[in-house]
Amino acid sequence: MFESLSQRLSSVFDKLTGRGALSEADVTEALREVRVALLEADVALPVVKDFVARVKARAIGQEVVKSVSPGQMVVKIVHDELIATLGTEGVELNLNAVPPAVILMVGLQGSGKTTTSGKLAVRLKKERKKVLLASLDVYRPAAQQQLEILAGQADVGSLPIIMGEMPVAITKRALEMGRKEGYDVVILDTAGRLHIDQELMAEVAAVRDVAKPVETLLVADAMIGQDAVTLAHEFNEKVGVTGIVLTRVDGDSRGGAALSMRAVTGRPIKFLGQGEKLDALEVFHPDRIAGRILGMGDVVSLVEKAMETVDQEEAEKLAKRIEKGKFDLNDMLSQFKQVEKMGDLKGILGMMPGIGKMAAQLKDAKIDNKAVARQKAIIQSMTPAERRNPDLIKASRKKRIAAGCGLSVQDVNKLLKQHQQMADVMKKVGKLGQKGLMRHGLG
Ligand code: GDP
Repeated sequence: MFESLSQRLSSVFDKLTGRGALSEADVTEALREVRVALLEADVALPVVKDFVARVKARAIGQEVVKSVSPGQMVVKIVHDELIATLGTEGVELNLNAVPPAVILMVGLQGSGKTTTSGKLAVRLKKERKKVLLASLDVYRPAAQQQLEILAGQADVGSLPIIMGEMPVAITKRALEMGRKEGYDVVILDTAGRLHIDQELMAEVAAVRDVAKPVETLLVADAMIGQDAVTLAHEFNEKVGVTGIVLTRVDGDSRGGAALSMRAVTGRPIKFLGQGEKLDALEVFHPDRIAGRILGMGDVVSLVEKAMETVDQEEAEKLAKRIEKGKFDLNDMLSQFKQVEKMGDLKGILGMMPGIGKMAAQLKDAKIDNKAVARQKAIIQSMTPAERRNPDLIKASRKKRIAAGCGLSVQDVNKLLKQHQQMADVMKKVGKLGQKGLMRHGLG
């Protein structure tokens, strides 16, 4: 779902060719694409502007690590800055209060407030907290009953419903019940509106003054897009937000709202809603959202890994050959040696920009170490001529090779077939390479 993003950024890879330190021209060029990519990921415009300016300041003049291209370097800087902006991970709920600690849930209607209240109750119950749920939503029909049902499913306390009672009165009753019955936490689920309106804000503020919450969690749908800025700003200004919960992260959203809301409020994103079920709540991991926004988290971590492990000379040699569409058994052997260092074949290919699609074809290319050792042994039993020209390997040679490495002819056949498949892919890669993709990948 983030392909266009990935593609955009890999086109950034293609354009940058310089060496040494990142030049202003390189960075400006790359950031133009990054800017569009962030907007496509639904990060709000003012946030994008600010973010890009910061990355620019950081990136210009940075040394390009020898084993990556300038484009990759910029993306790495963008990625790191995204994580820094998104904030620290695993920020726990603050429950430091004379019990009961009050958590106030705020947000628009349909954002997932009620569901998230139930999810939090489940989570806190697991931590052996005694939780009371109370709905202040007196407007939406059956909203209070909905929370009551969730409380039942979560097996936590629920404030009895009194029809016609208003939010502030309900709040007072919830606090009283919380105190009297020894609850550790009271979660107040406020009413939402379809749009922000001042009446709603005033009501939530009145509830806040009575409830004195230790946490006020702004719940927002990850799909909110450009409106995230207004939403976050309004709620933070009028009600005061201590943390953010982003829901429907399981859907198609690109996660840009996380960046917007974090940037606008300065408040941590505490949880991500990952589904409708009560256990579908996850602690926030900035690296995952950053990867999602960029659509290429794996590549970034592979670049990092590559910086540490890949034998540069060998990789360069291989890249040059692949560029020409060549891939013989010697190449396969050197590929295997790198695979052992890197973990998996897809990894190496994934690092080469422009190969995202191709890497998808290689889903099954994960190779376990034992298998790699066997495959290496097979190739090592071949003569140099055979390695250069696998077509030489007919039945009698196969038998000799199999005997040489203590495996069966079938194993040799399997390896040859695998080589053929890889060589086919490499040929396609080689065609891409003519556009210069490979050079930047490993050059
Ligand atoms: P509220 O009006 O803010 O209280 O929103 P609700 O809690 O009633 O949620 C509205 C709808 O969104 C319900 O159908 C929920 O099941 C659904 N929902 C809430 N959170 C998530 C989530 O993280 N993922 C998905 N897929 N659906 C969610």
